[in-house]
Amino acid sequence: SVPAAIASAMSSGARRGLLMKGGAVIEATAQIRAVAFDKTGTLTHGRPQVTDVVPLSDLDQTELLRLAAGVESDSSHPIARAILQRAEGLTPARAEDARAQAGRGVSAMVEGRLLHVSSPREASEQGLLADGAGEQIATMESAGKTVVVLSAPDGALGLIALRDEARADAGEAIRQLHAMGLSGTILTGDNQRTAAAIAEALGSDYRAGMLPADKLAAIAGMADQGVMMVGDGINDAPALKQASVGVAMGSGTDVALETADAAILRDRVTDIPAMIRLARAAMRNIR
Ligand code: ADP
Ligand code: MG
Repeated sequence: SVPAAIASAMSSGARRGLLMKGGAVIEATAQIRAVAFDKTGTLTHGRPQVTDVVPLSDLDQTELLRLAAGVESDSSHPIARAILQRAEGLTPARAEDARAQAGRGVSAMVEGRLLHVSSPREASEQGLLADGAGEQIATMESAGKTVVVLSAPDGALGLIALRDEARADAGEAIRQLHAMGLSGTILTGDNQRTAAAIAEALGSDYRAGMLPADKLAAIAGMADQGVMMVGDGINDAPALKQASVGVAMGSGTDVALETADAAILRDRVTDIPAMIRLARAAMRNIR
């Protein structure tokens, strides 16, 4: 019967860490044609490591890290955690009025100046990035690194590059989706070059440089074909909500678990095709 097939899919899913919130979610999951993934923390481990600290001013690496760690000290973004970890042993600069702008960066008052740690795009849009830095940034990004800029009101102080490894099963998950007739796309706020390097390694499509509102529009544009959005939830909550099925990934956040239609509790990307197979099987048992 209908309730039995649904109940059995929900409970066998739950035993494997695949949570689907009810029959309507299972039905929508069975009809998914496209899966959109957030990159950081979803397809990657979300634990980037600082690889380079590049002064663009007379400040040395230690001073750059001390200031950047101050700006980031209230942020829970993976980039913030990496910078704070790298600055361990230093006392972060005291920051006040820290403000995060999703997909762009963080600003705070530090020692009398408004400092930003932000994407190169954001820094250059604010007129803070001299042209000369572009080549250094491009070189690091082409190597698959994410670069952020520490800047003051009168210009960039330095660059910090980070690397975030893809999860071991991310490529396998994309292959399984393709074999099931589904498309897989990375939607990321990260830059074009870094996104391209990761997408190529995983065999996935990608769309880079996306602000949260762009991700939302992209999901809305795919809605007629049944789109699943998979994200870690912090700044992806609107896109998760917009998708036919929004899936919060991993131990994630409570916010994500509340707003999402579904969740995978283990950090396994292959649990996404597994969840879709489970939903498809449940719907076959009903018919
Ligand atoms: P993703 O789509 O990969 O999850 P986000 O939307 O979280 O990326 O962030 C996109 C970009 O915005 C980052 O690559 C970085 O350049 C910038 N950014 C966001 N948050 C921060 C932060 N706390 N510190 C520095 N840069 C940030
Ligand atoms: Mg993110």
